[in-house]
Amino acid sequence: MQFRDFLGADEVKARLSGGPERFPHAVLLLGEKGCGKRTLARWIAAAAVCTDSARRPCGVCRACLRVLEDNHPDVRMLVGTGAGGALKIEQIRELRQDAVRPPLEAPVKVYILPDAHKMTEQAQNSLLKILEEPPAGIRFVLTAPAQDKLLPTILSRVQVFRLRAPDVEDCIGWIMRERPQADAARVQSLARQFGGNIGQVLETLDQETDEPSLAASVALLNALLEPDENPLLETLAAFSKDRNEFAAVMNRSVLLLRDACAVRVGAQGTIGGEEETAAKLAQQLPQKQLIRLIEVCHRMADAAQRNANMVLLVTACGAAMRTAAGR
Ligand SMILES: [Zn+2]
Repeated sequence: MQFRDFLGADEVKARLSGGPERFPHAVLLLGEKGCGKRTLARWIAAAAVCTDSARRPCGVCRACLRVLEDNHPDVRMLVGTGAGGALKIEQIRELRQDAVRPPLEAPVKVYILPDAHKMTEQAQNSLLKILEEPPAGIRFVLTAPAQDKLLPTILSRVQVFRLRAPDVEDCIGWIMRERPQADAARVQSLARQFGGNIGQVLETLDQETDEPSLAASVALLNALLEPDENPLLETLAAFSKDRNEFAAVMNRSVLLLRDACAVRVGAQGTIGGEEETAAKLAQQLPQKQLIRLIEVCHRMADAAQRNANMVLLVTACGAAMRTAAGR
């Protein structure tokens, strides 16, 4: 069961599967978007707190299951609340205060810091203070696409592991096991296109099969083009109860708006799957406003995934979209 069906990263698995005593104070996982850094970070945190000492991480004990669901009291995934999902200095300060309290259940506490490269220098320096003199029983797992935005002082305190996408054939096999309904020819073509990067193949498949969000995005962007604000606000209000749906609609709207930008510069073919809406947007909105709208939709999708208050977010979204569109 060790690391269940996580493909590749053999070195990480071999080095970090022995339990807390074999786990270095701080680990940095490097790899491109979609290669599984966060998933692997959870698995190695599970390896540190797993209660089955014979096969850590077993993946089935209560401790492992809670880590994999982001629900273990001694394993914290710190998602950044700053601009673009950056970890803020206040979050690092709070982490430092939290770290001096002993773990509740496991022998160690593990902090997972995804997208560590987005930290400001100030936040990195604050983190450095605890990396230099970590309280007993504290472990860190940082992830980033590359190490160049991290301070050399941070890099000198972490053990670096580089993740690579699995072989294309392994990627295809994994996806067909996880998504038996998927179109095999499409999966093969995407797996080759993304060089075996499972995350990117899945993201593209999800976008292509996510028809409800396409219909909702088309309705939303058409409502935006109305002179009156009510159609837009009514369309948005329907999403205030479901943050995942709202985020999916925002992400899909980004694709439609990108298509509209492409139409304006005379490009052929669309990625959003709705040429008519893209053409209408391109006709009615200048490039600058389309780009602003893309930024708004990105920001709103991020905020929804970071547990923002949905009623307030949906209201703010309506105002921001109308301003961006010059309405
Ligand atoms: Zn376990």
